[in-house]
Amino acid sequence: MNAKDPSKLTSVDEHGDRLRIIPAEVRGFFRRQRTWTQLILLVIFLILPWTTINGRQTILLNVPDREFALFGAFFKAYDVPLLFFILGILTLGLAFVTSIWGRVWCGWACPQTVFIDTVFRRIEQWTEGNYIQRRRLRDSSFSLEKFRKSGAKWFLFILFSSLFAHSFMAYFIGAKELITMMQNPPDNNLTYFILVVIFTAVVLFDFAIFREQFCVIMCPYGRIQSLLFDQKTLAVMYDNKRGEPRRGVLTPELSPEIPATQKQGDCVSCNRCVQVCPTGIDIRNGLQMECIACTACIDACDEIMEKVKKPKGLIRYGTLDGSKISLLRPRSLLYLLLILLLVSGLTFTLATREPIHIAVLRGMGLPYSYVKDPTGQELIQNQFRLHIHNQSSALGRFKISLPAEFLDQGMELIAGENPLTLPSDKDHEWYFFIRIKPELFKNKSGAIKSKIYVEDTLSGTQFKTERELYLLGPKSE
Ligand code: SF4
Ligand code: SF4
Repeated sequence: MNAKDPSKLTSVDEHGDRLRIIPAEVRGFFRRQRTWTQLILLVIFLILPWTTINGRQTILLNVPDREFALFGAFFKAYDVPLLFFILGILTLGLAFVTSIWGRVWCGWACPQTVFIDTVFRRIEQWTEGNYIQRRRLRDSSFSLEKFRKSGAKWFLFILFSSLFAHSFMAYFIGAKELITMMQNPPDNNLTYFILVVIFTAVVLFDFAIFREQFCVIMCPYGRIQSLLFDQKTLAVMYDNKRGEPRRGVLTPELSPEIPATQKQGDCVSCNRCVQVCPTGIDIRNGLQMECIACTACIDACDEIMEKVKKPKGLIRYGTLDGSKISLLRPRSLLYLLLILLLVSGLTFTLATREPIHIAVLRGMGLPYSYVKDPTGQELIQNQFRLHIHNQSSALGRFKISLPAEFLDQGMELIAGENPLTLPSDKDHEWYFFIRIKPELFKNKSGAIKSKIYVEDTLSGTQFKTERELYLLGPKSE
């Protein structure tokens, strides 16, 4: 692979067609560190949705049911403020890390890099050989050997994509639901079955085919890098001063006017740094948007420097202005300050959050109706709907009641199941009626301000709250 025009995408030819990159394998210090880091992350990504904290899935992002769980905390759709704080902290945390350590996330920890590096590229190596054999196989015409090797590769790709799709699905629909689904025939859960098939196809397409194109073209985080970077951000850099003029660009014989000491830089133009690059760029052209900071070119160049007996580090981690990384910069301090504000907001919201979520709404239909009690006396009846969600981690037995002062006035509360037993994380629509003597509406404007109590009579939360409600009746003349 030759060095290309830096103003053009390396993975696309002049006709706009995709140039498939098969990067060379690389060994070295960073490759070893990344392998271990990525193996650990792979295990974490895969087992996280199958683990629980406080009886809840560790991470759950159930969008259809609007239920979210994050490391023991559980959120419903009405917890949007909490999600706002959490997402804000995560986004600013990433911006903070990027402003100091550059694209360390992309090269070391992004699931896209982790799954491709640790699984899909390895499958390619097992089935089709090293990068030279793979390139040869790619360019060869159809043969039995090509069919056999490619068949084995795609079989394993599909198998692992399906495995990963199931794990990813567990993040979105819940591990328990997924297991239940898997134990039943597909036609019992047709929607989810189709979803798993679509997910498998997406994983297969992304990790096996689309690959670096996702980082280069689609990833929104990659697109905003230039906003988060500054002169002091850590990045993978080529030492221009030391490397240039590179071999072949200027030779002593051809350029006798240049002093001998300047005639040859340390770069031997071996192109090894380009060959190992998963996005196909030439780091010698300077910092580029396509660089995911995977450090492969550092290891590749160090290996060459060792061979030509020059100091390592011609390509290395560095900052644009050559300074050391520092956490105490206006940009990073601003991110930290904003993170601190969001953490404070989150802590306050969590501290003041009730273990039970309650919303009282009027029943559908007429604002009030007339009913008769067993003695034949006419009463006014208001219907309400109480949505209750047990956000605590304990079973609750909830009771609704009217305050004594309203009972003394002859008001009566009627609810189907009272008290109501509700397990942790479950919610319920509770219908109840309040019956009022018509004379209470005398001299009133057709509405009486009242309230109900809701208390947990079982769990240790000692939860008791009240909600205001307006009882409607006929307006007095
Ligand atoms: S690997 Fe090093 S020596 Fe070889 S081309 Fe790249 S920068 Fe030059
Ligand atoms: S330029 Fe180097 S660090 Fe950047 S993506 Fe290519 S190989 Fe990785």
